[in-house]
Amino acid sequence: MRKIGIIGGMSYESSLHYYERINDGVNKKLGDLTCAEMVIYNVNFQPIREKMLKGDWEGIKDILVVIAKKLESMGVDAIAIATNTIHKVADDVAKEISIPLIHIADCVSEKCIQDGKKKVGLLGTKYTMEEDFLKDKLRSNGLEVVIPKNNLEIEEINRIIFDELCKGEIKDSSREFYIQYINEMINEDGIEGVILGCTEIEMLIKDGDVSIPLYDTTQAHIDSLVHFIVEER
Ligand code: GLU
Repeated sequence: MRKIGIIGGMSYESSLHYYERINDGVNKKLGDLTCAEMVIYNVNFQPIREKMLKGDWEGIKDILVVIAKKLESMGVDAIAIATNTIHKVADDVAKEISIPLIHIADCVSEKCIQDGKKKVGLLGTKYTMEEDFLKDKLRSNGLEVVIPKNNLEIEEINRIIFDELCKGEIKDSSREFYIQYINEMINEDGIEGVILGCTEIEMLIKDGDVSIPLYDTTQAHIDSLVHFIVEER
């Protein structure tokens, strides 16, 4: 079995799913009392969020590099960053360590491609939707990516993530808002699936809420990590 190092806490509401479901996934495969050998470095999200708001991604990268190196020195075989948005610095972090960084966009691309999907919607923070760091990775894996069209929609989708979901608040009005914009992308852009490109969105939207499949980055990441741990890949 391989060991995994997870950089979590962004938010802790979603990181707790990593702990539970990775152990559960490994146990389902190997049985008895087996669970995963993993180290979770839970960052304090508040200073990271403050840096994000100031646009200090260099500072965020520096924090992540220190943590990744610590995890590497503890003997883990790969690193995972348990959030989409912070993948903005993933390539820079990966360059500083000599073990693999299991990229969340590769994991979710694999699920979409396995299902034969080509054109997908992407919901996430405004960084994830507007910037190219995650979309480029999805595109390089063969996907065509659509995001909501106007700034007000993007701002509201982003606000719901940071003001509600990251604090564990699940509101019906926010669910309806998300569903409305998924439906808009289905009707206007012909998307065949929607990537929940933020590790908290799965708490809000579930399979069956819309007419197309959901591709949840949290679960896709977890599934790949389980495969890695049990050496299926
Ligand atoms: N967890 C979220 C994501 O997957 C947003 C919070 C963050 O900025 O890390 O993008």
